[in-house]
Amino acid sequence: MSIKENYESICNTLQDEVLLVAVTKTRTIEEIKELYELGHRDFGENRIQEMVEKAKLLPDDIRWHMIGNVQENKIKHMADFVYLVHGVDKAKRLKEIQKQALRNNRVQKVLLQVKIADEDSKFGMEINEAKEIMNSENLDKYKNVEVIGLMGMATFTDDMEQVQNEFKELNNLYKTLKSEFPQLKTLSMGMSGDYKIAIKEGSNLIRVGSAIFGERSYA
Ligand SMILES: *Cc1c(COP(=O)(O)O)cnc(C)c1O
Repeated sequence: MSIKENYESICNTLQDEVLLVAVTKTRTIEEIKELYELGHRDFGENRIQEMVEKAKLLPDDIRWHMIGNVQENKIKHMADFVYLVHGVDKAKRLKEIQKQALRNNRVQKVLLQVKIADEDSKFGMEINEAKEIMNSENLDKYKNVEVIGLMGMATFTDDMEQVQNEFKELNNLYKTLKSEFPQLKTLSMGMSGDYKIAIKEGSNLIRVGSAIFGERSYA
């Protein structure tokens, strides 16, 4: 199937309230342009350097999502354009994001990445840390940072019941926090292999790469 066919068949299954972020890591500028020409504008990368390089070569009206681990020393490279930072996994990151957003005279939208997977390799903070951040006074002081939701990744497993339970856990946290902090409106969960389950469990932002562009080769 072509990029166009894959894309259109995914779009046809999505409700309006679910935002599709097309994950372009390892993809060429030509492949990204093909999707752009179809009208798509939300793209995600998991490495800051790769995103910065691609952004320079592509139109300005793309909304770039940083979905990977946010390295402190690289925040400055994306601070003038990144649309949404999904991977804030430590309270400490917010300080640097605030500093760089202020320098660029922007208000940076971010998500808190919460660890729901049963794997050491996945980034993310504990549920309690997310609660603490939302309740901390620092958040009020960070005038150039706007926390608009949560992000999470399920365990890489064929056990779909486990995946579903992990998404449920994140949605429960999201609903709890949202009742107190109505500015939260984004729940980023679900990738090519599990986005249908994620949406069932309350996701309103899915990050999809291979189901659009085909299998990735890292060669
Ligand atoms: C690569 C990646 C995705 C997309 O993965 P696919 O399985 O290709 O859809 C989603 N989220 C994050 C954080 C990623 O790194």
